[in-house]
Amino acid sequence: MNWPITYEKPAPRRKICHAVADMSVFDHLDFDDHEQVLYCRDESAGLRAIIAIHNTALGPAAGGCRMYPYASEDDALTDVLRLSMGMTYKNAIAGLPLGGGKCVVIADPVNDDKPALLRALATHVQSLEGRYWTAIDVGVGPADIERMSETCDYVFARASQFPDGFGPSLYTALGGFAAIRAGAAHVWGREDLRGLSVAIQGLGATGHDLARQLHEAGADLVVADVRQEAVDAVVAQFGARPVDPRIIHAQDVDVFAPCALGAVVDDSSLPQIKARLICGLANNQLAEPRHGEALRSAGVAYVPDYVANAGGMLGAGTHIHGSPSAAESRERILGIYDTTLEILRRADAEAVSSSGIADQIARERISSANRSTKE
Ligand code: NAD
Repeated sequence: MNWPITYEKPAPRRKICHAVADMSVFDHLDFDDHEQVLYCRDESAGLRAIIAIHNTALGPAAGGCRMYPYASEDDALTDVLRLSMGMTYKNAIAGLPLGGGKCVVIADPVNDDKPALLRALATHVQSLEGRYWTAIDVGVGPADIERMSETCDYVFARASQFPDGFGPSLYTALGGFAAIRAGAAHVWGREDLRGLSVAIQGLGATGHDLARQLHEAGADLVVADVRQEAVDAVVAQFGARPVDPRIIHAQDVDVFAPCALGAVVDDSSLPQIKARLICGLANNQLAEPRHGEALRSAGVAYVPDYVANAGGMLGAGTHIHGSPSAAESRERILGIYDTTLEILRRADAEAVSSSGIADQIARERISSANRSTKE
């Protein structure tokens, strides 16, 4: 894992929160009627963490644990509020019987005592008795989760849940590839990706494997990463053309696949995007929700990030309720193709942004679960 550059930059509106140092959680701009926000402390381990449970209408809250040396508690709170809400939508649209939650640990996973922090965190997660299940995220990998499982029952995406050499990121990449195929079918009416040009931003755990699949399908790749070795590998293995990371979004290609940072579609990048399809694996690709509509107006088909990158949850999150085989997981993940097509078609038919359609479908599922609980 490349640390710490994959942290998704907060969208600009977050700055307002810094101005109000004593703002209550309830007044926070990113507070969205979260069910619970828990501040977790263990002095001896040096743990400072926040668990946010956004919504449990569809099932127990599930979402990874991020370890990052946030500059302030406000930054950590903003991140966990937004990420946990994103998990509610991701799990809902993926059709999983899971709600949305997330955890952030304010620490440097390279320099702080990570095992002690995770042991202390495990105690807090265990005390929630299954209302929240935790897993991997930036700074926390399958081996860390394996360690947490020694004292906590409510973890998934453990190393031992996957075949050797396989992990949730490869499931995520598989889902992203299915989403690109669906996007190509929608935009160009083609299943065959031969000759399709794709610009990939970020060649880490997900981006590299997406590049492999696209190359095997005959696509032409333009790539960028801030790590030279990641670029060199993809150039050597898949014949990709490297470009400066600052201009990867502006390439004259068919598809732009953001697989690194959040907030890549903003007021300055949007007019430079030439691709007719945006489909990648990064979280929070739109700097603000209004950029979904701006993309539609610009004639760009956008596969909402949490639709394209749900493969990890579909492959790993399903271990919360059972022990699916690799083939079953794969089949579920490939279902992202149909979800993507449905969203893009509805967006065109209803002249609404694809991100708006995805949010609407997710909200309907959550509301109907709320209604059936009350009946
Ligand atoms: P990773 O850390 O393995 O890879 C990210 C890559 O992006 C790194 O190689 C890094 O050097 C590169 N990068 C960072 N800044 C860049 C820049 N400005 N320009 C170009 N490249 C840059 O991360 P990952 O697991 O591949 O995840 C990528 C994105 O997908 C993140 O937003 C993550 O939250 C999201 N995501 C990942 C998963 C998963 O299963 N791994 C699931 C859902 C969402």
